[in-house]
Amino acid sequence: MLIGVPLETAAGETRVAVTPETAKKLQAQGHRVLVQAGAGVAASATDEAYQAAGAETTDAAGAFGAELVLKVRSPSADELGLMKPGTALVGMLNPFDREGLGRLAAAGLTSFALEAAPRTTRAQSMDVLSSQANIAGYKAVMIAADKYQRLFPMLMTAAGTIKAARVVILGVGVAGLQAIATAKRLGAVIEASDVRPSVKEQVESLGAKFIDVPYETAEEKEAAEGVGGYARPMPPSWLERQKVEVAKRVAQADVVITTALIPGRPAPVLVTEEMVRSMKPGSVVVDLAAPAGGNCPLTEAGRTVVKHGVTLVGETNLPALVAADASSLYARNVLDFLKLVLPKDGGFQVPMDDDIVAACLMTQAGEIKRA
Ligand code: NAD
Repeated sequence: MLIGVPLETAAGETRVAVTPETAKKLQAQGHRVLVQAGAGVAASATDEAYQAAGAETTDAAGAFGAELVLKVRSPSADELGLMKPGTALVGMLNPFDREGLGRLAAAGLTSFALEAAPRTTRAQSMDVLSSQANIAGYKAVMIAADKYQRLFPMLMTAAGTIKAARVVILGVGVAGLQAIATAKRLGAVIEASDVRPSVKEQVESLGAKFIDVPYETAEEKEAAEGVGGYARPMPPSWLERQKVEVAKRVAQADVVITTALIPGRPAPVLVTEEMVRSMKPGSVVVDLAAPAGGNCPLTEAGRTVVKHGVTLVGETNLPALVAADASSLYARNVLDFLKLVLPKDGGFQVPMDDDIVAACLMTQAGEIKRA
């Protein structure tokens, strides 16, 4: 099969869907891999490295003209113009963007959004949300440490003692857990909150303190269990009590990292303007939910701003700031997904009895397939 790997053109996107490592594996499976010139450069993969792996260098028309196109982000209108109807497309295509999916359907593409894969054991190796959130959690702490004008670890020196930074993490999914682990390695004192009760043990096992907000009604308990591992919106009664507990911690915090998301909905507001006002000057908030409206109403998506003496980071694509490793994990996710649609002993197929394929299929034969 002819596989195309375009250069990503979305603003700030530095990742690439195929690395020299995965290009080599695809070639070994008998496919021809065409990589657009410069596609991997921002992710530390040169054209020469792809060529050494057996891939060919091409231009945009060559990459988008392939039978199967592997991308990070959804193609732009211009890029769609380079694709033939019937082309297969795999990427992070934003399953909740109906308009975007409509454009893919109109272009006649058979498209798969990897973010839609179920959170099951079998799908773990192709779980792009996890692989990228893990990196985002790490980078959020790195950015916080960089913006914060004090140290993270406690330091006892001849010139006196420096106190450890207090870090509060709100939302402990994949990104939040990695943020805890990273901040811990830097020596911070950490507290964390999540709606899901199963998280408490994980937080404590990483050496952080869980901000307990007990459930008082059956409705609160049921909502907190979520669906398919994801959070659901919590009843206002619980959110009010959580707010009181979080406000106390945020007022004491030097760094707040928020990662709370509810799939397909705006992010919940967890850090109010009043809470930001209560923080010490020089404190830092990194809002990973910025692309979904933010967990803090003062964050500005894509910008770093200072308000009430607090630095608010609204970076919307943290994995792209760790382009090489983010690409390397993403490319392995893609390669694993391809095993389902490109089996060793046959051509491209769409086995709808496979729950992962069925969940990821977004468009086919001019129609949006997603329910
Ligand atoms: P996510 O990015 O959708 O959300 C981040 C976190 O925000 C979640 O932990 C969520 O509970 C939390 N949150 C939502 N509203 C909140 C609020 N008001 N206050 C505090 N926290 C709030 O989550 P994710 O990282 O994609 O992970 C979701 C779940 O899926 C986790 O349980 C994770 O362990 C699980 N998971 C399972 C698999 C697998 O089994 N293969 C793979 C990856 C993740």
